[in-house]
Amino acid sequence: MRRVVVKFGGTSVGNAERIRLGAESVRKEYRRGTQIAVVVSAMGQYTDELVKVAKGSTGGKITPREYDDILAMGERTSARIFSAALNSLGVKSIYLDPGMSIWPVVTDSNFGMANIDFEATKRRVQKFLVPLLEDRVVPVICGFLGRDREGNVTTIGRGGSDITAFLIGRCLGADEVIIVTDVEGVMTADPNKVPEAKLLKSITVEEMTDLARFGAQVMHPRAMAYKDPEISAKVIHYRHGNLRAEGTRIIGPRGDDLAGVRLYEKPLAMLTVVGESMQTTPGILAKFSVPLSKAGINIFAVSIGPRSFSIYLSEEDAKRALTILHRVVVGSKLKAITGEGNIAMIVTESERFIYAPGVIAKLTEPLAQAKINIIEIISSRASISFFVNWEDREQALRLFKKAMRELEG
Ligand code: ADP
Ligand code: ASP
Ligand code: MG
Repeated sequence: MRRVVVKFGGTSVGNAERIRLGAESVRKEYRRGTQIAVVVSAMGQYTDELVKVAKGSTGGKITPREYDDILAMGERTSARIFSAALNSLGVKSIYLDPGMSIWPVVTDSNFGMANIDFEATKRRVQKFLVPLLEDRVVPVICGFLGRDREGNVTTIGRGGSDITAFLIGRCLGADEVIIVTDVEGVMTADPNKVPEAKLLKSITVEEMTDLARFGAQVMHPRAMAYKDPEISAKVIHYRHGNLRAEGTRIIGPRGDDLAGVRLYEKPLAMLTVVGESMQTTPGILAKFSVPLSKAGINIFAVSIGPRSFSIYLSEEDAKRALTILHRVVVGSKLKAITGEGNIAMIVTESERFIYAPGVIAKLTEPLAQAKINIIEIISSRASISFFVNWEDREQALRLFKKAMRELEG
């Protein structure tokens, strides 16, 4: 039996007509025999309103527990309404609320950004949700919410209904997770900012994660952590009122972990171009990167300083690249090029880098203790690349792995 999780975002449940349209789309799929679990967000901007009122009415003197309890009311309301809409259409439905004994999502008590206890949640999903689906009941689950061990309502981070959808999908072993939202799918840019943005037919989990981490609201970055390669997933527009609409497919993950530490297996070289005029000359990076790309030389990383920039490439390409880039230097206002080889690149990646303070200090301190010199650090929101001497790579890798384990808790 096909099993699907459908998440309706804020705009998709923004008013009576849209809730009706969404419920009808569920009915259509339900009648085909599909088992469906629905996840809902708060209606429209309701969570923002609750934030304003909770802060305003208390002058900010509110405990995190009270604050989450209030913020939760958006989803608690829409789950009731959506479930009633389904029942009115003749689809047997119940809503699942953190106040109920069968509520599935278990978290810690980190209010505002609660961490999910996956194993406990999975057990509860299997125990309470699966029998409902098998009885042809459509459960409507409050997105964004959890419950801690003491029974308090928690929230898992703004925009978190996407996480709920993929979490429930994973715990159910669903065939598909469908994210219903207010755009046709994942686009080449935010269509509300770039009107000519085009729809992507597909995107990988890894690409979706980066896009989300760098701010694209269409998906919560942590949702992708629960995407199983066997579960198909897509983002579609609510206006179609059709769960079979195409939208954008999310593919993967490939299997290599997005959190962790990786050593690139070959030594790299760093070529550095120096010149005061660097920061006042437009198009400087293109001048240097185009000839490299024409020569088929791959660039691994670039770092820019006040009077110089460095390009990291494979050591095998270094000699050729030096000649090519030197020609560009001579034909420009820049002064000179220099190079260094025998460099190892270690890439660390974790969602926590975005939120946790002091990450670089925690990662680099053990290397300082071991007297390993770090040649360079290049960071990119959820990933930090460290460049060290090739001879130090194994020890550095071990130390980073240990530090990462401590960071991930
Ligand atoms: P929902 O309430 O359904 O979760 P969100 O507002 O959280 O919806 O996310 C959808 C919004 O994401 C779109 O309205 C759009 O403005 C924004 N967005 C940002 N980047 C992209 C992108 N690359 N493709 C599609 N939408 C994007
Ligand atoms: N309603 C919550 C928010 O506005 C969660 C969500 O929409 O995903 O952040
Ligand atoms: Mg959202």
